[in-house]
Amino acid sequence: MPRPLNSNVPAFNLAISTLLRNPSLLVPNYTIPTFLQLPEDNLGSHLIPPSYFSSPSGNAKKHHFPPKIRALVIDKDNTLTPPESRIIPPAYMQKLKSLRTKPSSPFNMHKNPHGILIVSNTAGSDPNMPLYEEEAKHLESILSHLGIPVFRSGVPLKAVAPGQTTEAPPKHHPLKKPFSFPSILAHLRAQNAIDSPDEVAVVGDRLGTDVIMAGLMGSWSIWTQKGVTVGVEGDDEGREGMDFRGTLAKWEVRLERYLRRRGVAPAMPKGWEGGF
Ligand SMILES: [Mg+2]
Repeated sequence: MPRPLNSNVPAFNLAISTLLRNPSLLVPNYTIPTFLQLPEDNLGSHLIPPSYFSSPSGNAKKHHFPPKIRALVIDKDNTLTPPESRIIPPAYMQKLKSLRTKPSSPFNMHKNPHGILIVSNTAGSDPNMPLYEEEAKHLESILSHLGIPVFRSGVPLKAVAPGQTTEAPPKHHPLKKPFSFPSILAHLRAQNAIDSPDEVAVVGDRLGTDVIMAGLMGSWSIWTQKGVTVGVEGDDEGREGMDFRGTLAKWEVRLERYLRRRGVAPAMPKGWEGGF
């Protein structure tokens, strides 16, 4: 079945204007090759760059160190599955299982039932697209034993007062990453998963959507730089060393390196700016 074009032009435009105005938002707080390397213990301490401790004293939350991460917002395409696939490779599934069932994990499903949320720009991103809704349901069914839901983006239709006419029927505008962050935060707050945005880490493979969104949210960003590196379908099933990154994602790798060389530091959540 041909998939709808998902070019996400508004996100691209935002990435370019951010690059010019606030490049810090494009630099991740922490980089890992793939989701498999996500630290299961002391995640918060990995999010603080070593330089933080040598910089002049700021208004850092000294007494709260390391940051306490209570919720993970995880991307789907090329973070948990190869892009446009519904199949989570076994090792990635095992990683989710470990995060959800290890007694010491802060995301243990019994201690923290709403601690993991999948937020995709395909699955669950548009209730008007049956394919995306079906994908979200499929993911939730294969992850139901781990209690991991897929975020549904979408603004409820506005009621029109009796007698009032509109030029066109009110349109449904579901927002995609990075613009959907207010509703993601509201969702996590409503479930008592978090009290403040600096308790969230966004995990994803793209600077222009996942990393920027973490910065806009006032949360932490974890960049899965290589995406998913194992095949799941056809002759590639189980094959290691795959690279599913597209042109934009590869360009982002060079951009990130360039920004770091120029001394651009990652954006820090509110209250964590400055050093100790
Ligand atoms: Mg992705």
